[in-house]
Amino acid sequence: MITVTRDGSSPDERSRLAASSRPDDDTTAPSAPYRLASRVAYPEKTVVRVGDARIGAGRPVVIAGPCSVENEAQIIEAALAAREAGAHLLRGGAFKPRTSPYSFQGLGLEGLPLLARARAESGLPIVTEVMEPAMVAPVAEVADVLQIGSRNMQNFPLLRAAGHAGRPILLKRGFAATIEEWLLAAEYILMEGNPSVMLCERGVRSFDPSTRNLLDLSCVPLLAKLTHLPVLVDPSHGVGRSDLVEAMSVAAVAAGADGLIVEMHPHPEQALTDADQAISPETLRSLVTRVDRVYTALHS
Ligand code: PEP
Ligand code: MN
Repeated sequence: MITVTRDGSSPDERSRLAASSRPDDDTTAPSAPYRLASRVAYPEKTVVRVGDARIGAGRPVVIAGPCSVENEAQIIEAALAAREAGAHLLRGGAFKPRTSPYSFQGLGLEGLPLLARARAESGLPIVTEVMEPAMVAPVAEVADVLQIGSRNMQNFPLLRAAGHAGRPILLKRGFAATIEEWLLAAEYILMEGNPSVMLCERGVRSFDPSTRNLLDLSCVPLLAKLTHLPVLVDPSHGVGRSDLVEAMSVAAVAAGADGLIVEMHPHPEQALTDADQAISPETLRSLVTRVDRVYTALHS
C-alpha cells in the first residue's frame, strides 16, 4: 500500500528517485511528474483484487457486458451470458456520458439495484461508471469497481472523490490525453490514499473515421515500463465496430495487457447504446478462448 502526504514529496523520496535515474532512459527520469504511479519509485507491480480476479497478476482478466443497463431482464441475461462465455467481471453503465443530451442517458440511480441483482444471479463482480463526485458514495455501495470515463479523465474533483471511494478505480484514457496527463490523473486518485487504480486504453481521436477511435496499443508496453499500475484495453470503444473487437483483444493481450473490457449484448442489434460495437455472447466466448491461448503461448 502506498501512502503519501498531499504535497507528495519527501527528501527521502527525492533522493531515491535521483539515485535510481540513469541518463537516456525516460522510464527512470527523476523528473517524472507522477510519483506514486511511477515504476521507478515503486517497481513492484500493483495487483488489484476484485472477487476472485487478480488484475495485474498475469493471466488477463476479461470484463464484459452491455454499454448500458437497460432493464432488469437485459442485464441479468447479459451477466449470465458473460459468465458462460468465460468473462470474470460484468460491466454495465447506469450513468452514461452521452454526446447528445437527446440520447438515452442511462437509468441513473435506478440502474444500480439492477446491477446488484445481476451480480447476485451470476456471481460476477460489477464495473460501472461514475460521472460526478456526489455519486461516488452511492455507486460505490453497489459497484465492485468504479469506472471513470474518457470524458472525465481530468475531472479533478471526481478523481479526488474516487480516491476515497474504498473501491478499485478503472481510469479510462481521455480521448485526447497524453500518457503523462493520464498518469497524472491516476496520481490524483493515488494521492488521496486509494492504491487500486487500473488504467484503460480506449482509443484516441484520429484523422480517420474508418474506425471510431485509434486504439493505441503501443501504450501497453510503454506503460508497463512507466508505471506499476495494471493496464487494461477497451477495444470496443477503440474501434467502434463489433467485427474488429476480437482481433484487437488478441492483439492487446499479445502486447501485454492485464485485461480487457469489452461491450457484449445478448441481442447486439437491440442495444440502446453503442449497438455497432456490441459483440454477441458467441463472439465473446471465442474471444476469451483465443485470448487465453495467446497468453499461454507467450508465457509458457
Ligand atoms: C463506456 O464504457 O460505455 C464509455 C462511455 O466509455 P468511454 O468513457 O471510454 O467513452
Ligand atoms: Mn459504450
